[in-house]
Amino acid sequence: MTVASATTPKRKSFRSLSLEGKRVLVRVDYNVPLDKATGQVTDDARLRASLPTLRYLREKKAKIILIAHLGRPKGTVNPKYTLKNVAPALSKLIGAPVAFAEDCVGPKAAEAVAKLNPGDIVLLENLRYHPEEEKNDVDFAKKLASLADLFVQEAFGAVHRAHASTSAIASLLPAAAGDLLDKELSFLGTVKSNPVRPYVALVGGAKVSDKIGIVDTFINQVDTLFIGGAMAYTFLKAQGKEVGDSLLEAEQVEFCKGVLAKAQARNVNVVLPLDHVVVQEIDKPEAAKTTTDANVPAGWKGVDVGPKTVEAIKPAIASAKTIFWNGPAGIFEMEPYSKGTMAIAHAIADAATKGATAVVGGGDSVAAVAKAGVSDKMTFISTGGGASMEFLEGKDLPGVKALPEG
Ligand code: AMP
Repeated sequence: MTVASATTPKRKSFRSLSLEGKRVLVRVDYNVPLDKATGQVTDDARLRASLPTLRYLREKKAKIILIAHLGRPKGTVNPKYTLKNVAPALSKLIGAPVAFAEDCVGPKAAEAVAKLNPGDIVLLENLRYHPEEEKNDVDFAKKLASLADLFVQEAFGAVHRAHASTSAIASLLPAAAGDLLDKELSFLGTVKSNPVRPYVALVGGAKVSDKIGIVDTFINQVDTLFIGGAMAYTFLKAQGKEVGDSLLEAEQVEFCKGVLAKAQARNVNVVLPLDHVVVQEIDKPEAAKTTTDANVPAGWKGVDVGPKTVEAIKPAIASAKTIFWNGPAGIFEMEPYSKGTMAIAHAIADAATKGATAVVGGGDSVAAVAKAGVSDKMTFISTGGGASMEFLEGKDLPGVKALPEG
């Protein structure tokens, strides 16, 4: 399915390029979690998301050169951030060998590329071992470009950054979008520009300050906005509620007041927590209790939304035709505090099963959906947390803008 958003013209697809025998540089998002002890990939969702593009390139007998970043090595070589273990994990998924080169530019990269036969794949070492990558350095981009004949942008999770492998590179080689990038822009574009109503957005997570832009955007677009997680406490404070020792961003209280006033003026249904699971110490869940109302007693902190809150948001989710979710409703990583987030994940999955378009916006919500066991019920799970937020806010994504329209 391809639906161009009103504000983002469709980008040229790599499927329109003549690929046979060509060396194709593919920027992928393989910024995957690794096990601290073994260095093995613990979640391969981002690898799997790139498979349709890679399979097509193999079918067309292209020579595939993968470039990616992992973590934040800050421009120096650091074995903690090597992509070495990603190559065998990808090889297993695609059912073909994946070579690995210890550098993404220079003789090691060139040698590895020279060995490729049509259909072969090589993964090059972390782009961010070179400080020039994050500086969008043209000379560095030229070194990358010298390895290939064509460039395919597939790393949706990185296109909100103007880096050498997302921005500068695209004007140095014939460039196009891969299937994943196209799919991300299609689904998020539909949510952004043509949401079928009612449209319900759910945001949560740690900080209001990280989500100011998206909350401001949603308040002008959605029919119902649910705010959960730690960020809800600053909103509750703005409503004059007691928040005890819950996470609070005092400097954002005025912003939250403004959002609530706008919501009222626009007739947007804002659902804030009506009750909470509270603790005195996060690592003592056995002493948790549930409040009877939206106030958190002094000396206690909110760690999850309570059952009344879940019941309050469920009807809106059940009748929604478009749902967007980013950010957990509590500290879902800890079993005793995961019930609210799990109930929300199930409610969204039920709505999606009944025909709603349910889009999950990257980051922790992806892990929450996986933990609830409902990933395959969602309409679309974005691979890019930051990029999907910026896209929905209407910001230009440099890595998309750099690609030709088509
Ligand atoms: P974010 O990356 O902003 O989506 O935030 C996700 C993080 O927010 C998760 O690690 C959650 O554990 C955390 N979080 C959610 N609710 C709470 C809460 N009530 N108190 C503290 N942390 C929370």
